[in-house]
Amino acid sequence: MESVQQTITRVSQELNCSPTSRRLAEHLDRHDELQQLRQEFLMPKISDLPPSDLSLVDGSEDCVYFAGNSLGLQPKNTKKYIEEELEKWATIGVHGHLKGSRPWAWAEETLEELMAKIVGAKPEEVALMNGLTVNLHLLMLSFYKPTPKRYKILLEDMAFPSDHYAIESQIWLRGQDVTDSMLIIKPRQGEDTIRTEDIVSVIEREGDAIALVMLSGVQYYTGQLFDMEAITRAGHAKGCLVGFDCAHAVGNAELQLHDWNVDFACWCSYKYVNSGAGGLAGAYIHEKHAHSVKPTLMGWWGHNLKTRFLMNNEMELQPGVNGFRLSNQPVLLVCPLQASLEIFNRTSMKDLRRKSVLLTGYLEYLIRHYYTKDPSDPDKPSVHIITPSDPEQRGCQLSLCFSRPIRTVFQELEKRGVACDMREPNVLRVAPVPLYNSFTDVHRFITALGSALNASGAE
Ligand SMILES: *Cc1c(COP(=O)(O)O)cnc(C)c1O
Repeated sequence: MESVQQTITRVSQELNCSPTSRRLAEHLDRHDELQQLRQEFLMPKISDLPPSDLSLVDGSEDCVYFAGNSLGLQPKNTKKYIEEELEKWATIGVHGHLKGSRPWAWAEETLEELMAKIVGAKPEEVALMNGLTVNLHLLMLSFYKPTPKRYKILLEDMAFPSDHYAIESQIWLRGQDVTDSMLIIKPRQGEDTIRTEDIVSVIEREGDAIALVMLSGVQYYTGQLFDMEAITRAGHAKGCLVGFDCAHAVGNAELQLHDWNVDFACWCSYKYVNSGAGGLAGAYIHEKHAHSVKPTLMGWWGHNLKTRFLMNNEMELQPGVNGFRLSNQPVLLVCPLQASLEIFNRTSMKDLRRKSVLLTGYLEYLIRHYYTKDPSDPDKPSVHIITPSDPEQRGCQLSLCFSRPIRTVFQELEKRGVACDMREPNVLRVAPVPLYNSFTDVHRFITALGSALNASGAE
């Protein structure tokens, strides 16, 4: 298959233009089979974004939205679906539980199949419920059962704070020593990301003491996509259970949770899955555990639906992850998730990934074309990409470090109509999302970056 570099060179020759020309981006957009999906989302205008400086940019244009790794855009059908439910509530009240296209009593159940496709699972292996951190806790309550010999949890250095705290408190809850039980794996000295071989060798070396391997699918800070299949295999070979937090992987990378034999996973849906802040989160448990792993905490929504409302206080637990449900579902959160999953259902993760590799590769190409990663020349800004260059080891996000002060670069980009994300201490995260970003967006970003870096050097 043609590499990104080869595609760019070929197209620039066909068009007889420079590889950095905007014409090349426009050509790639015209040949993008997923281009029309952008129309399904509400793209903010530059003039509406609070930090925009309208003396520097045309406010009537769409912003360059590279923040889908933080909060995905709103699908256009969201409002319609929410209004339908508000209308139903207003007109038929309690009857809404059983009536309409989304009967509240089982509103989310039609969505599990769509969600399962995105994570590579069977529908009965997936539940939509709660928030991500809550699901992480519920799953660890059942999957982390330390014994005197096997009590450690393997996690990555600089894990997302909520995951770190969740793991810390689970260890504490079980009366274990926190420092001894949190086995934290770091990149090698001088490297930014963690090598798979290093993860595997820690598991081989210390696996007998590891109860749980609990990593992210895509690391939120570096953008590294972990080799979940290899890590799961290594964990199982040493008798460990293996779970992944897929917050940054779902809707971004091609996941095969079932085939990879991952024991459990959880994710939120407001990043690449566009369900709105605090949207309904996901949880997965492999079917092999359906009858052996039980929820530690039970609620009436874990009861078999057919007999749930008999109210006889005899628990008929649904097998697998469905038994982990606690409360009736917030239908107003089901609406945006449905609107988004319907858009995903018009394509496939395979096609999204194909576009994503080219889109992010194009961004990487332009950054490398204009900037060195060597910060030795104080007059020339340098840009260092800490995300792996290998498309197999990343999703759509690139994490960038600059020789100029990060906060200034970020503010100057925001003034120019770019929405992206700055993370302390030193990283700008940019995520061209294949569902709604275009190659022209990437080109506009590079132009804005050039002028932001100029402005940041002028201080
Ligand atoms: C976004 C994210 C969270 C956020 O957790 P919530 O419970 O949804 O607030 C947690 N962990 C990771 C890895 C994340 O990327």
